[in-house]
Amino acid sequence: MHSPFYRGRFAPSPTGPLHFGSLVAATCSYLDARASRGKWFVRIEDIDRSRCRPEYETAILRALERYGFAWDGEIMRQSLRRAVYREAFERLRDENRVYPCGCSRKEMADSAIAPDGAGIYPGTCASGLPDGKAVRGWRLKTGGKALCFTDLVQGDMRQDVARDVGDFIVFRADEGVTYQLAVVVDDAAQGISRIVRGADLLDSTPRQIALQQCLGISSPEYAHFPVVLDEAGNKLSKQNKARALDAGNPVRDLVDAFAFLGLAWADAIYASLDELWQNAIARWSLQLVPKVRTRPWVGA
Ligand code: GLU
Repeated sequence: MHSPFYRGRFAPSPTGPLHFGSLVAATCSYLDARASRGKWFVRIEDIDRSRCRPEYETAILRALERYGFAWDGEIMRQSLRRAVYREAFERLRDENRVYPCGCSRKEMADSAIAPDGAGIYPGTCASGLPDGKAVRGWRLKTGGKALCFTDLVQGDMRQDVARDVGDFIVFRADEGVTYQLAVVVDDAAQGISRIVRGADLLDSTPRQIALQQCLGISSPEYAHFPVVLDEAGNKLSKQNKARALDAGNPVRDLVDAFAFLGLAWADAIYASLDELWQNAIARWSLQLVPKVRTRPWVGA
């Protein structure tokens, strides 16, 4: 049974134009929301001022329109929500869920390596800020049991955040909120019931669940589709200079994205984008989505 309260989202960071990997993210979340007769929201994750550009935001939104995506409600912009994030951070601080940390990136460099490639925090400032250190950020206290969740594509997941990631930064003294806290606050504010996104964020999910638990927010469902790889076997991303889609042939690109997600298409010739979407929505199921794609994707 589909919930009448399904609310999904696509949350691009405007650090480059839409590429095939982000088209897959938009497509997977959109198909799943519309096939469940749910709502689908767009959120611009533009808190990182050094990497985000308004022209990329415009390019992403225009591309979504050309591909025939129709979002519900107003677009949410993280750059306009700093006061809300500060409030969430202050709540964590007032409830003693975080502690100040004065470690520099350099001081963290010889820590062990977490699954996402970042250093596992060794807990240097956990029992108090060392003398003479300025506060650089606040870390969530992650002690406790391992977190388990069932991903709708990847299956049963388990992570001991304290051991595998360590206490992580939720708020920086200079730049303010981090991705992990902002995403949790925003998914709750938008009432998102199911998060559909790439498996590169699978490893962040237990951190987000930990934050939800601290903030008394109920966790949404999660579905992580496989990462789109480029020819060198790296995640296709704006940082890796993935080719922008020109949307000159939106049907071909969408059929490619459908195929990547396991929705095979025999005939790519459709009278309209509308017809293509209707057909795809009618045939959609998350069960079609493979857990991994080990080869570079032709559409990439
Ligand atoms: N803004 C993130 C990105 O562009 C996605 C965050 C999310 O879906 O939670 O990769």
